[in-house]
Amino acid sequence: MSEPGLVASCHCGRARITLPRLPDQVTHCNCSLCTKTGFQGAYFPSDELTIEGEFDSYVRSDSNPAYIAQQRCRHCGIITHWVPLTDPPHERMGVNARLLEPGVLDGVPVKEVDGRSWPA
Ligand SMILES: [Zn+2]
Repeated sequence: MSEPGLVASCHCGRARITLPRLPDQVTHCNCSLCTKTGFQGAYFPSDELTIEGEFDSYVRSDSNPAYIAQQRCRHCGIITHWVPLTDPPHERMGVNARLLEPGVLDGVPVKEVDGRSWPA
């Protein structure tokens, strides 16, 4: 049983991702997708995450080759995480840190990432 503060849940509560611990840092990225969705990244290996819910997926069509799929709750549409398009287990997955309760990430360093400047 993990601490309740380490469960990231969508707006309707049907999608829940349980983190093994607080992330070492939270990534704020200024790329078009993160800007428009408000996604903030907390990264963990896939085998350390417990993911519950039903998801739709979105692969941005402007990255070539595409390498990740954004996942969103099928019911409320909130972006919950992204997964690589390769077969699991994944060394790194991105969980939307915005889904944690307010205050949980207080004191966790923020890493600003200039994704907008990267080649798509
Ligand atoms: Zn939901």
